[in-house]
Amino acid sequence: MDSERIMLSRVHLSGTEQKYIDEAFADDWVVPLGPHVDQFEHRLEKYLDAPAVVALSAGTAAIHLGLVLLGVGRGDEVICQSMTFAASCNPIVYQGASPVFVDSERDTMNMSPEMLERAIVERHRITGKYPKAIVPVDLYGMPARLDEIIEIASTFGIPVLEDAAEALGSEYEGRRCGTFGAFGALSFNGNKIITTSGGGALVCHDAETAGRVKFYATQARENRPYYYHETIGYNYRLSNISAAIGCGQMDVLDNRVNRRRGIRELYAALLADCPQVRVQDNPDNRFNSNFWLTTISFDEGVSQSVEDLRQYLAADNIESRRLWRPMHMQPVFAYAPFYGEGSSEELFENGLCLPSGSSLTDNDIARVADRIKQFFKS
Ligand SMILES: *Cc1c(COP(=O)(O)O)cnc(C)c1O
Repeated sequence: MDSERIMLSRVHLSGTEQKYIDEAFADDWVVPLGPHVDQFEHRLEKYLDAPAVVALSAGTAAIHLGLVLLGVGRGDEVICQSMTFAASCNPIVYQGASPVFVDSERDTMNMSPEMLERAIVERHRITGKYPKAIVPVDLYGMPARLDEIIEIASTFGIPVLEDAAEALGSEYEGRRCGTFGAFGALSFNGNKIITTSGGGALVCHDAETAGRVKFYATQARENRPYYYHETIGYNYRLSNISAAIGCGQMDVLDNRVNRRRGIRELYAALLADCPQVRVQDNPDNRFNSNFWLTTISFDEGVSQSVEDLRQYLAADNIESRRLWRPMHMQPVFAYAPFYGEGSSEELFENGLCLPSGSSLTDNDIARVADRIKQFFKS
């Protein structure tokens, strides 16, 4: 009966995107630079209270250029949170460096500061070198324990690149995610909190560094009257049309963040009488997740599997998704060292992402919660 499709995180347009796109077309700014790229960057800078933001073609490109700017190269090791999307660590390999994976803590599901410290000390003992960079992730919008991670990193003089691809609008101790490390990466892919259809940005701490990022993102062309190259560059700038979509999305960003938080609250209220699952919440008031996706975890005693629930919901046309399968469990990274105690494996086995798109109605959320309760009764 009630089988209209409910998707995990559907694109949610503001209605003003077309106006910005029309402006761009009116002046033939259908190129990978232009006034909308500038506007989008400035609006992100203001929103994040960050000195400089460079708009790029993808979040993956942002992580890649962050590593390039940090001087990551062949023979280096880079520490990355294991429980994440492959885009957090693939660029480490693009640079000819090797990833070292670190386990998550249970409440934030993000990089464990304790395991991070152990990994740094162990890698130094084994290789004689410190890792070249550290990539923590703000998974599903939940900030990592960024103060502790940055304190450990600076003790050893290692820069942090914060993967905030899922965390635009999240805050830790009142400061916006993406602004904590030497660099912060954002994504505007179609399913993220706001979209440019595809795109990303690198948050920088000064204009000069941002200039270097733009240089690398436009094929590393030296300032001469002819094409002259002293280094390898990339074609990573965001198109002006995509940036125009981003401007339309910035008009409603606060709205979208509030709605995602509201959806999590609604799930928490509706599932309060369902002892088999726990809805993720901010561990304490230093954390203020955007709750890009609401996640639940199964209680220890539950006999059913999260995969059973995923299929049960799918049969009712409800899309849910397993948590990120940790990178140290991926065949492609089987060679990489891992420092952990089994938490990310357990999180993966016991967690599920629920439909959380900002365009979902309260009725949609109620239908999902109801199906979850039915599942445990069946
Ligand atoms: C989406 C995402 C990225 C990559 O962003 P793209 O824009 O898709 O390249 C990186 N890290 C995480 C954690 C993400 O969720």
